[in-house]
Amino acid sequence: MLYQRSSQLFLEAQKVIPGGVNSPVRAFKSVGGTPIFVKEAKGAYLYDEDGNRLIDYINSWGPMLLGHSYEPVVNAVIEKAKKGTSFGMPTEIETQIAELAVSMVPNVDKIRFVNSGTEACMSAVRLARGFTGREKIIKFRGCYHGHSDSFLISAGSGLSTFGVPNSPGVTKGTAQDTLLADYNNLDSVKELFELNKNEIACIIIEPVAGNMGCVPPMNGFLEGLRQLCDANGALLIFDEVMTGFRLAKGGAQELFGINADIVTFGKVIGGGLPVGAFAARNEIMNFLSPVGPVYQAGTLSGNPLAMAAGLTMLQEINKDAELFKRLDEKTAYLEKGIREVLTKNNIQFVVNRVGSMISIFFCDGEVVDFVTAGKGDTPYFKNFFHKLVENGVYIAPSSYETWFITDALSYADLDETIQAIDKVTQEI
Ligand code: PMP
Repeated sequence: MLYQRSSQLFLEAQKVIPGGVNSPVRAFKSVGGTPIFVKEAKGAYLYDEDGNRLIDYINSWGPMLLGHSYEPVVNAVIEKAKKGTSFGMPTEIETQIAELAVSMVPNVDKIRFVNSGTEACMSAVRLARGFTGREKIIKFRGCYHGHSDSFLISAGSGLSTFGVPNSPGVTKGTAQDTLLADYNNLDSVKELFELNKNEIACIIIEPVAGNMGCVPPMNGFLEGLRQLCDANGALLIFDEVMTGFRLAKGGAQELFGINADIVTFGKVIGGGLPVGAFAARNEIMNFLSPVGPVYQAGTLSGNPLAMAAGLTMLQEINKDAELFKRLDEKTAYLEKGIREVLTKNNIQFVVNRVGSMISIFFCDGEVVDFVTAGKGDTPYFKNFFHKLVENGVYIAPSSYETWFITDALSYADLDETIQAIDKVTQEI
């Protein structure tokens, strides 16, 4: 495959954009090589600037549940755009998407729309702090909730209960209010509650982790968090930016039968336009300005184009009773094929999957948290990634990412992918 034009565009981009990209993972830093510049995309395929066609397993990192350039969404955006692209005043469509979203998601009465998953999680935490009158939060190592200061915290050394910033620019003060626990380890959460009595406002968690590769919650883990929150007067925030409207109509809350207190959304809810949202019961949402004291706002929040894309996406999901079953079956088919060829080729691997989220780790044992997710063979992954691209299959350029399966994939696409994985794992 040729990447001449992508290489040229990357050189030009680097002169005027830091690293040539507007979000770091796109620069291929962890796998090396030249980022692929996309020209257009349709259904399950990306077409790059050099004329290559790639089967897409990233799908804009999740939003394109039904495939690229999905016609009803594209048409809704075009029609809306003809009537004005932003007003900063209320529009009817905001209520329409809010009604639909609230009807699909368990345990929420009201929802507010923002412009990204980061904003949704940042606002949800502020709301939890305002509602409880407490300052500290618990997050899990390896979970990502956007790039707001409170979330850019990694572990301190040893048994330190305070986080330390893992990006310059995040203050020590901010880091001290973010406590870190280990995914799938209830004891690590209990300990934090014991050491910080009546100080913890909330736990924020990806109910299925997708940002250390796909790591499912073990039996009883989410239930245990629910109980610990109830026992300690803290709120449970499910970050459903990835899982919302992907794992089920009602997201992870529905899939696992567990109620969170605040739920955040992004990705699918915007149908590919910049949308985030957070939702909760009335008593919590009524704490938000202008009804309550917790401030949160946005010039472009509820933007008509974004709402048109999101509403159409949710309507399409809502009317298709078989969608989540179909997505699960397609991803299960892919998982089975991957397991067969990797076993045949004597590769050490772990495949984790929940519904249409799946990832391969090149290691043995099991992957249940950030430490075990890090055991993967990185040099092997780099090779795997580049060879798959050469064979027309695009996966995320990092071993810490999940693949997002779209309903636009046909079984022929899945077979082509499994064959490509067979071929490249024989070659490496
Ligand atoms: N939460 C989760 C679980 C995410 O995966 C992401 C983005 N990948 C975010 C929050 C942040 O969303 P955004 O990139 O739209 O700000």
